[in-house]
Amino acid sequence: MRRIEGFVSGKSAKATSGREGDVFNPNTGEVQAKVGFASNSDVDAAVQAAAKAHVAWSAVNPQRRARVMFEFKRLVEANMNQLAEMLSSEHGKVIADSKGDVQRGLEVIEFACGIPHALKGEYTEGAGPGIDVYSMRQPLGVVAGITPFNFPAMIPMWMFGVAIAVGNTFVLKPSEKDPSVPVRLAELFMEAGAAAGTDVSGVLNVVHGDKVAVDAILHHPEVRAVSFVGSSDIASYIYQTGAANGKRVQAMGGAKNHGIVLPDADMDQVVKDLSGAAFGSAGERCMALPVVVPVGKKTADELRDRMVAEMETLKVGVSTDTAAQYGPVVSAAHRRKIADYIQLGKDEGADLVVDGRNFSLQGYEKGFFIGPSLFDNVKPGMKTYHEEIFGPVLQIVRANTFEDAIALPSKHQYGNGVAIFTRNGRAAREFAAKVNVGMVGINVPIPVPVAYHTFGGWKRSAFGDTNQHGMEGVKFWTKVKTVTARWPEGDVGDSSFVIPTMR
Ligand code: NAD
Repeated sequence: MRRIEGFVSGKSAKATSGREGDVFNPNTGEVQAKVGFASNSDVDAAVQAAAKAHVAWSAVNPQRRARVMFEFKRLVEANMNQLAEMLSSEHGKVIADSKGDVQRGLEVIEFACGIPHALKGEYTEGAGPGIDVYSMRQPLGVVAGITPFNFPAMIPMWMFGVAIAVGNTFVLKPSEKDPSVPVRLAELFMEAGAAAGTDVSGVLNVVHGDKVAVDAILHHPEVRAVSFVGSSDIASYIYQTGAANGKRVQAMGGAKNHGIVLPDADMDQVVKDLSGAAFGSAGERCMALPVVVPVGKKTADELRDRMVAEMETLKVGVSTDTAAQYGPVVSAAHRRKIADYIQLGKDEGADLVVDGRNFSLQGYEKGFFIGPSLFDNVKPGMKTYHEEIFGPVLQIVRANTFEDAIALPSKHQYGNGVAIFTRNGRAAREFAAKVNVGMVGINVPIPVPVAYHTFGGWKRSAFGDTNQHGMEGVKFWTKVKTVTARWPEGDVGDSSFVIPTMR
């Protein structure tokens, strides 16, 4: 059976723990490969490789580092088809969606190509007599990223794109469920300018595994910062453990994004947008829209009927089927979890309007497929409303007024994304200003900000105070040094025992 190993100092690095995980093909349900889990010493070897490379990499000037990013971008584009096929075969998302996953990551690499500009410091001439003050942004050293299964290309690139461009060296611990694409990205990065045998070969290293590898990163004294994306309980653990070990940490968690539909919305557009945002990638997106909040009974009844009709047109298929809108979910366990939530929703008293649990794809009966489901009359007190399902399940929560509709996402434990559908600019403006959520879409169902802006939710969707990519990313991955320099004219003055002030 094929084995997937880590990647350290530009070379494949076999895990030594003797532990391994199954990598499934979600279309067939078969185990297609084994992934070797890193031991503490494997993680240490990756950190040491990164520490060694940091000496040379941090001395490379920013424009040369940017050139490596330009070359990496070219190589990823040249390998787009291979990366997308690899990604689909382990994750289950359809090929076009996998290309989107790679492309959204590449946009952060494009941002990183402009890093010399982003790294420029501040300068004050003449802050005192003969005194100038300037600041510089310096890399932190060895840093790490721990990523989820649902965007195995984009999220690693969010992190290492900016972290490496500013001069850090990186250890990536991707999801053990779809580990091949992150390794392929590291190989391409090596080709782009961090070749084996050079003094920068350890710029980007990959270790695989579970809690053991994650804990080794969190406790390693040489790791200066950790960026995490995954579910909220683990994000909270990473944040607390990393901080307790003196590291800078940002930890993005789960989500339950709401789409508010006002009575004046363009319903044709809403139905299409909701369908893509709720069921695309089988709902396995942290920016999916699994909750829709129509305002008023008339809007709710129309939306429900039209969603049912739209859902009948959806095609669920294998990830290589170009006509399929979405493919299987990532694992049998995840499929079971989604099915259990559907049962719970029924038991809690919500109306199960469309039940996707009995869906089966001919010829792929063992694949991890699940059809789209729709609930109506979901209520805020229900567990299935409070928790993230992360599957192709759309829940209608009816609201009587605009104020009630804003209150729902604002009070929810998660605050990643939210969308409003309306033709009323004033209402949209008020909504964007008042809603207690980090990323807002106005007639945009999945408002993932572009790479030169910044990505991050609120409440239990993110722990820490800096977001991913854009200037927030640059801040997270650097520390500021401020220099006060004096070049006096004439004799050296007397000693002073009072705090210096600028006269
Ligand atoms: P997950 O939390 O199970 O795993 C994320 C990472 O943590 C993986 O690398 C995994 O190996 C590691 N991990 C798992 N269990 C661990 C443990 N006990 N201790 C330490 N590390 C552990 O998440 P997932 O299922 O891979 O991804 C889906 C989740 O990620 C969803 O909750 C989704 O909303 C969230 N997500 C959030 C964002 C965001 O930006 N907010 C983006 C994408 C996904």
